Amino acid sequence: MKFSNVCKKFQSSLRENKTVFLLCAILILCVIISLAVIMGRKKSVPENGRYARIYQNGTIIRTIDLSAVEEPYQFTICGADGEENTIEVKNGEIGMISANCRDQICVKMGFIHSAAMPVTCLPNHIVIEVGSSSEENEPDGVAY
Ligand SMILES: [Zn+2]
Repeated sequence: MKFSNVCKKFQSSLRENKTVFLLCAILILCVIISLAVIMGRKKSVPENGRYARIYQNGTIIRTIDLSAVEEPYQFTICGADGEENTIEVKNGEIGMISANCRDQICVKMGFIHSAAMPVTCLPNHIVIEVGSSSEENEPDGVAY
């Protein structure tokens, strides 16, 4: 009778193991699903903006896909009254590297890579804004 006892024990432990295994499987599945949801969310709302939009006097004069920039480059925007703003574009970043404005606030702001803080040159009416879309009125855009 010892054998059947062992057998029963084995069977019951097998049943317990099955329950534990099932619980583990459910737990792992939950983790995978929540990870997938988090990853999916991260994909749809990137932390860093992809497009830089440059405004002069309130209108977009240039849109740059920052993720497509391979080599850093610079260009200068000239205003009607002799304003000059030199902008440098890097992969994922954009900034004002020189300007002939009085305050130089735009140059001091450095490089930006998100919509959190647009580079603004008030005297020269230049705004560099970074966002996830190349379109103007994006829902999470910065109002100014
Ligand atoms: Zn400035």
